[in-house]
Amino acid sequence: MTKRRQSEVNIGMVGHVDHGKTSLTRALTGVWTDTHSEELKRGISIRLGYADCEIRKCPKCPEPEAYTIKEVCPKCGSKTKFLRKVSFVDSPGHETLMATMLSGASLMDGAILVIAANEPCPQPQTKEHLMALDILGVKNIIIVQNKIDLVDEEKAWENYKQIKEFVKGTVAENAPIIPISAHHEANLDVLLKAIQDFIPTPERNPELPPRMYVARSFDVNKPGTEIKKLKGGVLGGSIIQGILEVGKEIEIRPGIQVTEGNKTYWKPLTTKIVSLAAGGKGVKKAYPGGLVGVGTELDPSLTKSDYLSGSVLGEPGTLPPVRERITIKAHLLDRVVGSKEELVIEPLRTSEVLMINVGTATTVGVITSARGDIADIKLKLPICADKGDRVALSRRIGSRWRLIGYGIIQ
Ligand code: GDP
Ligand code: MG
Repeated sequence: MTKRRQSEVNIGMVGHVDHGKTSLTRALTGVWTDTHSEELKRGISIRLGYADCEIRKCPKCPEPEAYTIKEVCPKCGSKTKFLRKVSFVDSPGHETLMATMLSGASLMDGAILVIAANEPCPQPQTKEHLMALDILGVKNIIIVQNKIDLVDEEKAWENYKQIKEFVKGTVAENAPIIPISAHHEANLDVLLKAIQDFIPTPERNPELPPRMYVARSFDVNKPGTEIKKLKGGVLGGSIIQGILEVGKEIEIRPGIQVTEGNKTYWKPLTTKIVSLAAGGKGVKKAYPGGLVGVGTELDPSLTKSDYLSGSVLGEPGTLPPVRERITIKAHLLDRVVGSKEELVIEPLRTSEVLMINVGTATTVGVITSARGDIADIKLKLPICADKGDRVALSRRIGSRWRLIGYGIIQ
């Protein structure tokens, strides 16, 4: 049997802005994920960028030098052996873009926390992103100490000690810390070995009904295309469980808002999968891991400009309910991370507005009743989520949404 060459695992690139996430993604994949023009202008990653690489191993060279992304070993010229295809999900480090990072974290099977060696650790979003991984249950973490080319040995050790101190008592307490230079592609073999050792492909149950978190949605037609040549709406995201297949019926929730008479409600969409793309290639079946593009028969005006991002896609009748109100049991942090001040987090209050992230969905909600750690929340946009699901909670502090904890849907 030939090994399928779809990516099998999503690895988040997280960390403070400018610490080298996009550069490292490029060093590992050849793909520059900041493609959006606004991103290029501002020099920051706004949306999630996926990029794939094949991890390969030279049969002749010793470890860890044997690990490479090249088909021919750069050290000895032998043909290398394919081990695994992985996807990196590059997330924005800029503090205003936490919602995007949180959506991304719901797709991550593991993460690389990128920390620049030439700045004191932790920087605000280094902390905030690690907290987000913790809150969303991403446990397989590798820390890279990037820009090692910019510091001398003494400074590198000092930074290493700061990192060790910072991760004490967190999910990343025992994470390996690997010095690299994304710029000079130095020590990437050690990092590839660590990815193999510390971020395994999760056990997947192919029997579960398929479910995908939609991160993007597009209208792929050029303006002015003749109606009969229009292609249906395209959804992009990651499969969380099960397998999607061309030709199968799917349902998308919450779907679209419809108004009939004086009643407004959310109506799930049903359609058929007409094409699938994984790793940039057309496929008949798509599996968990990597960015999957789903071509549908939907009217493309429904999918344009990420209109359906945040929705959940699956087999009709198998998706969680659509909720316009939720009751949560809240677990709040002690202090606000991600800002210099580190304010104490006050309990939830009736009438306050929170930002809620669940899966790839982002919405705001008003607390209609807060009593102890239980809160009833009326959501601006509905979410498709199960009882027991975890939602990330952010509160507006100053001019920004700050992660304050998580809630479990009751
Ligand atoms: P991001 O915001 O975390 O995605 O960071 P970028 O990858 O955009 O990198 C920010 C800046 O740091 C860019 O100017 C990079 O060229 C630079 N940079 C990234 N990695 C390295 C490195 O290993 N060494 C040096 N000297 N500069 C780096
Ligand atoms: Mg970037």
